[in-house]
Amino acid sequence: MTSFPLRLGISRCLLGDPVRYDGGHKRDPFLTDILGPYVEWVPVCPEVEAGLGIPREAMKLIWSTHQSQPLRLVTITGGVDHTKALMAATAKRLEELATLDICGYIFKKNSPSCGLERVRIYNEQGMPKRSGTGLFAQAFREAFPLIPVEEEGRLCDPAIRENFIERVFCYQRYRQLLRNGVTQQAVVRFHTIHKYLLLAHSPQDYERLGRLVGHAHRFGPTELAMKYGPLFMKALAVKATVRKHVNVLYHIVGHFKDRLTPGEKTELLSVIGDYQRRLTPLIVPLTLIKHYVQLFNVEYVRDQIYLNPHPKELMLRNHV
Ligand code: SF4
Repeated sequence: MTSFPLRLGISRCLLGDPVRYDGGHKRDPFLTDILGPYVEWVPVCPEVEAGLGIPREAMKLIWSTHQSQPLRLVTITGGVDHTKALMAATAKRLEELATLDICGYIFKKNSPSCGLERVRIYNEQGMPKRSGTGLFAQAFREAFPLIPVEEEGRLCDPAIRENFIERVFCYQRYRQLLRNGVTQQAVVRFHTIHKYLLLAHSPQDYERLGRLVGHAHRFGPTELAMKYGPLFMKALAVKATVRKHVNVLYHIVGHFKDRLTPGEKTELLSVIGDYQRRLTPLIVPLTLIKHYVQLFNVEYVRDQIYLNPHPKELMLRNHV
C-alpha cells in the first residue's frame, strides 16, 4: 500500500483562487469537489509568483527571432516583456516542487504561462498559431518528464480523465517503490501486479517491460528501477481501447473459466460482448469478473492493479 499523500500540482486559478489577470478564477468543480478529497493540492500561479500583481494586463506569447530565448511573454496592449520575471519565478518554484514528491500536475488550458498545448503564439506580424505551450508548463515538463500532466479542459473527456488519474496513482506507487529502498524482488513484484494494466494500454511495452524484468539479475536494483520507470509511464500514457480491455478481460476469465457453470460462462461472455459492442461501460463486465475473482480466490488476479486502479468512489470506469 502507498503511504505518502497523493500530491498534485495545479494551476491555482482552477481551485477558485482569484488570481487571474482580471481578478477572477476558473474553479473546476470536478477537481475541487470530487478529486479534491483524495489529493493534497500544491497550487501554483506562476504569474503572481513572478510579482505581476492582480489584476494585471492580459498577456500573450510572441515569437521573436531577435532574442536568445525567442518565445516571449508580453502584455497584450502595452507590449511589456515579462519573460525574465516569469522564468526566474519558474526556476525557483520548480526547485521547490522537486522536493515535494508531486505525482501529477493539472494545468489551466490556453494560458501563455500554464497552457500545455495549442496555446496561441503570435509571430512578429501579429498572426497567431495554436501551436505553443505556456512558459511555466514547458519548463515543468522538461524538469519532470515522468510526472503525468493534463489540462483541465481535456479532463472533461471521460477516457482522458480516467487515464490521467490512473497514471497519477501508478506514478505514486512507482515513487513509493523508490522510497522503500528498492530491491530486485520489489521491482519484479511491482511489474507483476501491473501486468494487466500495462496490457490494456500497450501490449508492446508490456512485452518490453517483461523482458527487462526477466533480465533483472543483470542490473543493480536501483538501475533496474530507473530503467523500468520511464518505460512504465510511457506505456500507461498509450490510450487503452475497448479492444485492448476486452483482451485483458478474456485473459482474466481464463484464470477461472473452468470453475464456472455453463450458464455462468454464457452470462459472463455475454456481458463482455455487450461492453465490446459499447452497450455498457467497462465497470459492468469488471464488476462481474471481480465477483468471481473473489469467489474463487484467484490470487494472481486478485492482486492486479487493473481491477482497482483508483478509488471506486471516483466512478471513472462508469463512463469508459
Ligand atoms: S492560468 Fe496559471 S498564470 Fe494564469 S491565473 Fe491561472 S495559475 Fe495563474
